[in-house]
Amino acid sequence: MRIIIYTVRNIISVFGILLLFATCASEKNEHPGHTVITKWQGDKRSAISITYDDGVITNFTVARPIMNDLGLPGTFYIVTGKVEGSQKGKFIGRPKDEIIKETATIKTNPDNFFERASLIAYTGMKDAVEYNVEAGSLFEEGKIAEAHALIDEAYEQVRSSNLTDVENVVFDNHPEDTTTWKEYQLYTSEGHEIASHSITHPRLSVLDEVNMLYELEQSQSDIQKFLGAKYTFSAECPFGTENPRVMEYALKVYPALRNRMPEPYLDELNRSSQRLPGESDKEYVQWQRGPHTDTSMDLMKSWVDTSIVHDNIWLVLVFHGVDGIGWEPRTGADLQEYFGYIKQKEDYVWVATFADVTKYVRERKNSKVSSTLKDQAIVVNVSSDLDPEVYDVPITLKTYLPEAWKASVLTKSSNPDDKVTLSIQQDALGAYVLYSVIPGQSEIILTERVDL
Ligand SMILES: [Zn+2]
Repeated sequence: MRIIIYTVRNIISVFGILLLFATCASEKNEHPGHTVITKWQGDKRSAISITYDDGVITNFTVARPIMNDLGLPGTFYIVTGKVEGSQKGKFIGRPKDEIIKETATIKTNPDNFFERASLIAYTGMKDAVEYNVEAGSLFEEGKIAEAHALIDEAYEQVRSSNLTDVENVVFDNHPEDTTTWKEYQLYTSEGHEIASHSITHPRLSVLDEVNMLYELEQSQSDIQKFLGAKYTFSAECPFGTENPRVMEYALKVYPALRNRMPEPYLDELNRSSQRLPGESDKEYVQWQRGPHTDTSMDLMKSWVDTSIVHDNIWLVLVFHGVDGIGWEPRTGADLQEYFGYIKQKEDYVWVATFADVTKYVRERKNSKVSSTLKDQAIVVNVSSDLDPEVYDVPITLKTYLPEAWKASVLTKSSNPDDKVTLSIQQDALGAYVLYSVIPGQSEIILTERVDL
């Protein structure tokens, strides 16, 4: 028995050494033909996504034109119930009167809390929406008894109020927010991502299953109907929630959430996190920062600088209001200065939508690259088991070349007549070229350009 254990241990340690060797080889292979997928598109040092929440009109009329002038794409999480032509918020469940009547004799408890918190916004009572938001806030802080008591207080008011019309409930609404689907279609054609921030912007954590799913799924259906499936990839659940129940449901509906995206290789520092991104040893760090009205421009610029110092940071900026409309608004002049600063750093940062960065990272982690050098040609293949309909962001490959090559020509097997000359660059490991491919699309052939 002892001999067997000893042998197994030996096998494990031999495997360990082999694995170590394989790891070193992949990182330090100086052999010509050696090919890696760069950490970020274009071999940049970091990525930045500029995102906005709540579908505030000035996001589109003030911030968007500034980004367009600079050629920077943004991600806009919109409240679809605000947009003409979409399905509106509604309560799904037992008759309202039945539930309201019950509240007079049965205290709020874990069994009825979600149903009551779902209905409250649709009761037509004056502060109905605020009660959902506040109950959700208490609940997410773990103050369950307080949340139940607040719902009891709310229904006491419902029972004694003159109830008003409850058509078109939208939380945190601004009458100015009149952007149409047609306008959103234009914005996607400019390269921006328009994505879901629910139908009515409720505290999803205190909705029951059917009402939570309606907020998530109907918002997705409307975006799919008016903008197409490409824009149903990422979403942001309101109030930056990380409630585990909400995350479980939402991640079944959306492949990516700005709230939380559990991946073993990704560290997520949310907006309130005090941890420094440089302290993380994960392969990628999603570092969210949300500038408020009084956040200094120097601090905002320092986030960009910090991202460039490391090589694993994805800085996700979260804006809300602009020019006086929306939560914690920034002025257009501020955004002009800040985005101009980011633009100046574009040699080092890849500025892309939230969806595109997510896709790039997943494509990189899920792709297999093979390359062979034979008869003075390097043949490179990239395969991935991700859905090619969804994961279509070009990844950047870096291939080391024989030292003797003076220039390199790239051809793709799908289009052999299209020859692209690549400029040769140098790093500590040798001469290399950079080029982009979509995983699984075609074979790449690199040859020396001899006519120079
Ligand atoms: Zn929001």
